[in-house]
Amino acid sequence: NSVFGHVVRAPEDAILGVTVAYNKDPSPVKLNLGVGAYRTEEGKPLVLTVLQFALICSSRVKEYLPIVGLADFNKLSAKLIFGADSPAIRENRVTTVQCLSGTGSLRVGAEFLAKHYHQRTIYIPQPTWGNHVKIFTLAGLSVKTYSYYDPATRGLNFQGLLEDLGSAPSGAIVLLHACAHNPTGVDPTLQQWEQIRQLMRSKGLLPFFDSAYQGFASGSLDADAQSVRMFVADGGECLAAQSYAKNMGLYGERVGALSIVCKTADVAGRVESQLKLVIRPMYSNPPIHGASIVATILKDRNMFNEWTIELKAMADRIISMRQQLFDALCARGTPGDWSHIVKQIGMFTFTGLNSQQVTFMTKEYHIYLTSDGRISMAGLSSKTVPHLADAIHAAVT
Ligand code: PLP
Repeated sequence: NSVFGHVVRAPEDAILGVTVAYNKDPSPVKLNLGVGAYRTEEGKPLVLTVLQFALICSSRVKEYLPIVGLADFNKLSAKLIFGADSPAIRENRVTTVQCLSGTGSLRVGAEFLAKHYHQRTIYIPQPTWGNHVKIFTLAGLSVKTYSYYDPATRGLNFQGLLEDLGSAPSGAIVLLHACAHNPTGVDPTLQQWEQIRQLMRSKGLLPFFDSAYQGFASGSLDADAQSVRMFVADGGECLAAQSYAKNMGLYGERVGALSIVCKTADVAGRVESQLKLVIRPMYSNPPIHGASIVATILKDRNMFNEWTIELKAMADRIISMRQQLFDALCARGTPGDWSHIVKQIGMFTFTGLNSQQVTFMTKEYHIYLTSDGRISMAGLSSKTVPHLADAIHAAVT
C-alpha cells in the first residue's frame, strides 16, 4: 500500500491541458489555438536568427550566478522597460533581480510584498491570466478583482475599473498588464492610463506591472512600455515583472526580471537585500544560459537592432492574422460584430464565443482553445484561417 494512496488526481492546467487534448487528437486538420507561444506561417516554433548569433558570442561560463542573477542582464533589463533615460535608474532607485521568467518574477515580487508591505491585498483584473490568482495566493497575498472587460462591447469597462480601484482600500496592490492584456487583448488608451495613474497615486495604490509582451503587442518596445514609464515618471514607487519568453522566443530558458522602483537609492539597496532572502531558499540563484544570451543581445547595438526587426515581424504577422480572420468572417456573413478581432492587441483574441461553442468547435472541427473563447492568434496562419472561420461561423449559426 502506497503512503500516497490517498492522493487524488489534480485537474489538468486549464491552458496547458488544451495542448494535452490536442496532442491526443489524430485528425490531420487539428489546430491548436490554446498555446501562448509564437508560431510561424508554417505553424512551426521560431528561434530568432539573432539568438543564433548571440549563442556564439555569449558566455560559456557555467559557474553559479549571484543570488540576484547576472548584473549586466539586470541593468539592461531595467533600461529596456523603464527607458534608457529613466531618472529612476540614473538615481539608482531601481533594484532589479533576475528571476525565472515572468512567472518567477511575479512570485518573488509577491513573496517580498507579503513579507514587507503593509497591505496584503492585491487587485487583479477580471478576467486575467489564470496563473495570477494562484501565484499571489500561494505567496500569501489576498486576491480581489477589479472590473476590466465589458462583454457587451468586447472592450474595456473603464467606468467599472475606475469605480473598483476608487473603492479599493488605500495602499492596496494593483496588478496591471503593461500591454497586450491576457486573455482579452484589450488595453487602456494612453489617456485612460493617465486617469488610472492619477487615481492610483491619489489613493496610494501600489502598481505591480506584469510585462510579458513588451514589443510583441505593437511591434515597438518603447510604445509597449508607455504605461509603465508613465508611473515611473511621476516619481512614485512600483514593481515590474518582465518576461523574455515571448519577445525573444526564450520560453523554455525561463529568463525574466523583477524590478522594484523605490523612492531613494538607500531604500532600493535595503529592498534588494531582502529580495535575496526571498530567492536564496526558493531556488538559490537563477540559471545562467538564457540571461547571458539576453545580455549579449541587449548590449550590442547591431544585435539589438536585429532583434527589434524580428520582433516587429512577429507582431506584424499576428496583426495580419487578425485582419485575415476578420475578413474571412465578413466574407461568410457570420452573424455578429467581429470588429473586436482587429481592435484587440497582442497574442490573443477574446472572441466572445462561449464554452458550448468552444466545445462544438473542438468536437466538430478539431480546433483547440481555452473554454473562455480565447484564441492564440500566433497559432494561426493564412492556410488555417478559413478552417477557423468555418468553425466560428458554424458555432454561432
Ligand atoms: N503574465 C502573463 C499575462 C502571461 O500571459 C504570461 C505567459 O503566458 C506570463 C506572465 C508568464 O510567462 P513566463 O513565465 O513564461 O514568462
